[in-house]
Parts: sequence; structure tokens; C-alpha cells
Amino acid sequence: MSTQDQTSLDVINHRVSKRLTNDKAGLETDFLHYLQNNLGRELTSEVDYKLKALAYTVRDRLMGNWKQTWLSYRENTNKRAYYLSMEFLIGRSLVNNMLNLGIENQATEALRELGLSIEEIEEAEIDAGLGNGGLGRLAACFMDSCATLQLPVMGYGLRYEYGMFRQRIQNGFQVEEPDHWLGFGYYPWEVQRREYTRRVKFGGYCRPYTDPHTGHLIVHWENDEEVLAVPFDVPIPGYKNHTVNTLRLWDAAADEAFKLSEFNAGSYFEAVAAKNEAENITMVLYPNDSSENGKELRLRQQYFLVSASLQDVVEQWVKHHNADFTRFAESNVFQLNDTHPSLAVAELMRILVDEQHLGWDEAWHIVTHTMAYTNHTLLPEALEKWSGDLMRKLLPRPLDIIEEINHRFLAQVAQKWPGDMERQRRLSIFDEHGMVRMAYLAIVGSFSVNGVAALHSQLLKDGLFNDFYQLWPERFNNKTNGVTQRRWMAGCNPGLRDLLNTNIGEDWVTDLSQLSQLETYLQDSDFRQKWAQVKLQNKQRLADLIKKDTGLTVNPTSMFDVQVKRIHEYKRQLLNALHVVHLYARIKRGATQNMTPRVVVFGGKAAPGYHMAKAIIKLINNVAQVVNNDPGVGDLLKVVFIPNYRVSAMEVICPGTDLSEQISTAGKEASGTGNMKFMMNGAVTIGTLDGANVEIREAVGDEHFFLFGLQTEQVQDLIGRYQPQSYIDNDVDLQAVLNLLEVGHFNQFEPGIFDDILASIKSPQDEWMTLADFRSYVEVQEQVAQAYQDAERWVTMSIMNSARSGMFSTDRTMSEYNRDIWHLKPIQVQTD
Ligand SMILES: *Cc1c(COP(=O)(O)O)cnc(C)c1O
Repeated sequence: MSTQDQTSLDVINHRVSKRLTNDKAGLETDFLHYLQNNLGRELTSEVDYKLKALAYTVRDRLMGNWKQTWLSYRENTNKRAYYLSMEFLIGRSLVNNMLNLGIENQATEALRELGLSIEEIEEAEIDAGLGNGGLGRLAACFMDSCATLQLPVMGYGLRYEYGMFRQRIQNGFQVEEPDHWLGFGYYPWEVQRREYTRRVKFGGYCRPYTDPHTGHLIVHWENDEEVLAVPFDVPIPGYKNHTVNTLRLWDAAADEAFKLSEFNAGSYFEAVAAKNEAENITMVLYPNDSSENGKELRLRQQYFLVSASLQDVVEQWVKHHNADFTRFAESNVFQLNDTHPSLAVAELMRILVDEQHLGWDEAWHIVTHTMAYTNHTLLPEALEKWSGDLMRKLLPRPLDIIEEINHRFLAQVAQKWPGDMERQRRLSIFDEHGMVRMAYLAIVGSFSVNGVAALHSQLLKDGLFNDFYQLWPERFNNKTNGVTQRRWMAGCNPGLRDLLNTNIGEDWVTDLSQLSQLETYLQDSDFRQKWAQVKLQNKQRLADLIKKDTGLTVNPTSMFDVQVKRIHEYKRQLLNALHVVHLYARIKRGATQNMTPRVVVFGGKAAPGYHMAKAIIKLINNVAQVVNNDPGVGDLLKVVFIPNYRVSAMEVICPGTDLSEQISTAGKEASGTGNMKFMMNGAVTIGTLDGANVEIREAVGDEHFFLFGLQTEQVQDLIGRYQPQSYIDNDVDLQAVLNLLEVGHFNQFEPGIFDDILASIKSPQDEWMTLADFRSYVEVQEQVAQAYQDAERWVTMSIMNSARSGMFSTDRTMSEYNRDIWHLKPIQVQTD
């Protein structure tokens, strides 16, 4: 950094930051300062104000290091990575930031002295729900791990005004409510940086002309709309290491100056309407998980993210390197979180060729050495395609560029496989209907293509992307997902954290492989007892949440059997529901001998337009209604649907879970990360060989994992000759379950509402093959129930799951991204 910057920072640090002490007294003083002098409130005021005062107190302690980190990274020798993602499912930040700063205990004490409960204040924080599910949460975990590993990585995303909708359950149905998470005030964890505002173009047409000075052909994009991208920066602290990375979220704003001519021309209404249109871009997160709807506004969002972020990086580069791009590729890398930001391939070409006047080949070399693509799904309905016509209208210049990329790419294909027109057709970025296959654009433009679990990456090479694999085998690699143990153990499971700290030390917080030390405690009866105690306390906490959110009382000594995740047919909440009905039928016919009392917990949101997923929610709630109110059932079976599943709910759910349900149809779940959160917190998994379950089972050992169901190859072999009726004919339990559903036992006053569900699982076209796995699921569930009754065996399994979960930390995942794809040098942020 320049000496001027450093001097200015030193002065500020000396004058201001020195005042900020992390002891109890310092925190208390600052908290009171914000509460009274800034917010004008007192200790008896509403909790929201105390939350804000505490958040500002904590934020103050991030700012100096944030600035210092920013300046250290600017040194030109340091390669940097940029994580481009349409979603960052952050959740709450207060506990996480205090934990990473190492001030949790002092803050708790400071507030206790003031007669306040820190838990109550923490509970008041609204989740930043800027994502749908796994993909967005992964991005947030990645950011945490990169900061902890001191990797110079910046996140780029969108600052949606409305995040993931809030879910209410009304009469058993999902009702969506807007999530105006910013409320009336500001998000305490963001800093607006108007000075880095960028301009994003839309519409218009392209006009080629010859530069009179150089004779080069230059294309001018005569856009008819320009939207401002205003950055809001969120600090991402590493764990006790002075690094504070940046997540930059773009907010769309109208360019008032641009519209001035229209105001002057008397088109007041049109000008204001256009302002709305511009600001609409970041108004709302699309609530679809694993499916695409092809809406124009979504394409606008994608381009807005990509264009603003790439301009941001390139303009900073130009500022510090005088438009010399020779070292750009070795100094920058962009990781594309799924195909959503894959327009980055075309947009970086546009910026380099049209704005920086590089030649095509030089620009293409840069693009194909800086872009890396992560695939997140094999489901065809999730593979993005945009119509060429829509792109022509909205993004004429990027479309030109994609056509040129494809033209040159197909020439390369023709060279490798002369005369193989069929292969050219298969590999073309444009399909036969003129739709742009975004995944193909991403692969052609990237030097790395990765899947998110071993099985998934293999399936990409064998199936979906096989043609590309034959062309560029060296591009393909696997990076098994993970989750951050800071949030998902240390932050959300204080009981477990304390138990671990006193027995194996604190190193696991930054080195999760340390958990393997737990195996030396397997025979330690005192430790085992404490382990069981922690689990029971966490189950009580979950029971309290259930009580608060549903009114139902559950017994914490029952087995807590949990499936929380987005509601989707491939995840097969239906299979779980069929098992619940089976248990209910068993109880009703009196076959309860040796039965294990269970609380079956469901949670998750359905995409608002996904009819079948919504019907599944209704079915679960109706079954719960009948089961929970049947006096003959009692504690043997309780069924719960926790409304509004979100990050902060999972922070209570995963520590309190005994049995983790990971039961997707084999070959459909790319990785899963919920499975990892449960495992770390000592839950045992019942699962198929799908996604990262495969690796979880390998790590924990067969005897500590409940496996069932068809395997990927068997599922594939069954396609076209799947006969669900044959499973029904051979299974009296399944007949009993279907019979209860068909006679309307769970929908006595709502005739026909489950017909679609029944038809789908009985159809030979059922892609998810739910009935094929019913028998093996029920049998393995019975083994689970018996294992749970053997309390000692269960404790062993629980400890083993946690002990062997070390590799599922995003610290490991990020180290692998860095080792194989990014090649960044960790940077120790210097402090005085
Ligand atoms: C972890 C997490 C997910 C992902 O769960 P899967 O079981 O992997 O689908 C989704 N939503 C939230 C809120 C999460 O915390």
C-alpha cells in the first residue's frame, strides 16, 4: 500500500481505534454510547434498539482491520479471487462476528452487568435470507472459511430488498409473505460505498465502426437504458486473525441524470416509471431452488451482477496498472457459483475488447485463464437456457459475443472430429431452438469445471458433460462441499463447543480434523455421559422452538428424526411421510411392542409456483394433525412441520437432532450440506448413496450409517421399465399406507386434495421412484429404532459421526479450491 494510505491509517488507528478495547468495560461503554447517544434509547427500550447498539459496538471492532485488509490486498503482487454468486444465504451475523473477534464472553458479561440477556438480543436479529437453500448457504460458508484461511477472496452478489419469502402455515397450506428484511432502518452489517458505483447497460443495438486512428474494427453498444449499481459492503471476519474480507452486494438505482432529458421533455410519468423499472432489478430474490423460470427480470439480475462486478475488478486494475493487461490473468480468478453468473464469460470479453481495446485472442486468453465454473445440479429443469431473442433485445452486444465464441468453438470441434456434425450440434452453445445453454457457455469459457461431491463430479463426466469431458478432460475436477464449523458448531452449539474445548482443546475451530481425537474418548464413560447430556439439552432447546412455532409439546427423550431442506420431489419428503403413515398404521393396529417413540420433524419452503411441493407440505401438515390428536398414539409418534425453515432455525435444529434424513433418489442430490451440519453435531444419518452421503458413509464407517435404497446405476437401469404397482402388490405395509391415503383418512373434509400426489408416486413415469425404495427404507428405519433403544450404541454412533466429520469443513473445501484452481497466497494482515 502507499505510504500515504498507511500513514493516514496509522493516524486514525492511533486516534480512534485505540479507544476500542475488547474487554467487558470497553464493550459496555460503547454499547451504552450507541444506545443513548446514537439511537436515543435506554436499557428498557425495545430489543431492536439494543440489538442495533450491540451490532454497532461489534462492527466498530471490525472496521480498522477491514480497512487494513483492503489495503494489504491492493498490493499488486497478490493474486485475488472473486466469488460470483446470485445468492448469499448469510443468516444472522452478530454471534458469528463476536465469535470470530473472540469477544463473545466479554460481551455476554458486559450485558449481564447491565441486567440484559444477550440471548434475547441475539434472537431479535433478522436473518439476511439472500438465498434459497444449499447453494446460497454454501457461498456464505465459503466466505467465512476464506477469511479464516486468510485468502484474498471477495464475494460479489446482489442486495435484494426482499430476500427469501417468509413461510407461514395456514390450515396446513404454505402461505408466502414478503421478507422485507432491511426493515425501515439500515442493515447494521453493511457500509454503502457510493464512490464505487458502476453503470450497467441494457437494450439498444450494436454499431460497428472503424477507429480512424488505429484502423481497428470497434463495436459500439448504443444502449437505451443504463442502471446504476451501488455497492454495499459487508465485512467477513476471519477467526481471530485480523483478516476482514469483503462481500460486495450491488443495489440497483436509477440514473437520475440520464433521465433528465425526459423530465425536461415533459415525460414526468415515464421518467419516474423508468426509475422504478431500474430499481426493480434488485427488488426481489427469485424463490426457485433447482428450477428455472426463464423470466426476463432474472436475466437482467444476472447480467447486472456480472457486469457491475467485472467492471469493478477491471476498473480497479486499470487504476493501479495503467491498462496493462499482461499480468491480469495471473492476478485474478473468478469462481462462478453455478451457471447464474456465466454471462461473465461474454461480459469480460466485452469489457476487454470493446472498452479496453484488446484483440479478441488476447482477451479470450484472459477469459479462459480467469474463469472457473462450479456446477451444482444434474436436474434438467435446473439447467439454464435463455432465448436468443430475449438476449438480442436485452443484451445485444453480449449476444454478439456469445455467437462469436460459439463460432470459434465449433471450428475447434470440427478440427478435432472432422465431419462429425452430430457432435457439433450436441456441443453448440445454441440449441436447435436458438436457446443459449448457459452451462456450455460457462464450460467453454472456463479453465476449471467442478462438481460438488465425488459422485456428482463423476456423473458430470460420464453423463451431462461427457462430450466436453472428451474434449477437455483436464478441466474437470471435484470439490466436495463443506460447511463452516464456526457457525455450525462453535456458534450454534455452545454445549458441544465447551465439551470439546475442555477435552480436545480449541484447535478444532480452525482445524476440524482435530475432531478425530474424540475417538480416544469412546470408552470414557464420564465423557459419554456428558455427550449425551449436551444432546439432551439441545433437544430441549429444539422442543422449545417446536412449542413456540407450532404449539405442540414433544418429549425430548423421544428420538428426534429430522428432515429439513427445500421441499422438492427429488429430496423425497414423501418417502418420509409414507413411513410416518406406516408407523401410524402400526400403532393403530396395536403392533407397538418394542416401538421407539419418535418425533418426526419436517421443515422447508416450496417454490411458490411448485404445485406438487406445496401439496407435500399440506400432506405432512394433515398427517401431523391426525397423528398428534389421536389419543391412542401419544408419545409413540409426533409429527411436526416447523414453519419458515431458515439459517437461524437450522442453528437450533441441527444440534438437537438424533437422526438426519438424507433420502433423495440416488443420483439427484449434487452434494447436500445439511447432511454435514447434522453429522458434525452428532446426528446419525439414514440415507441413500447420493451426493456427499457417499463420502459421509465412507468417513464414518458402514456400521455408523444407515444405508438404504437403490443406487444411481440401478435407478438409471429402471428408467423405462419402472413398475410401481409391483412394489405395491408385494408389500402389505405399503398397501396399508396407500389405503389410508386413498380413503381420505388425512383429508376427510378436503376430498381429492392428495390425488395428484398419489397419482405421481403410482405412475411408471415417477422419476423419483419413491415406491421402489419404500421397503428398504422401512426396514432400515426399524434398525434405526432398535439402535436408538440401545442408548450406549447410539452414543457411540453419535460421537463417531462427529469425530469423523473433519473433512466436511469448508476450510478443507477452500484449501482445495485454492490448491487446484485459485493458487492464492494467504496474506497475513498486519496490525500494529
Ligand atoms: C444447510 C441449509 C440448506 C441445505 O440443506 P440440504 O439438506 O443440503 O438441502 C438449506 N437451507 C438452509 C437454511 C440451510 O441452513
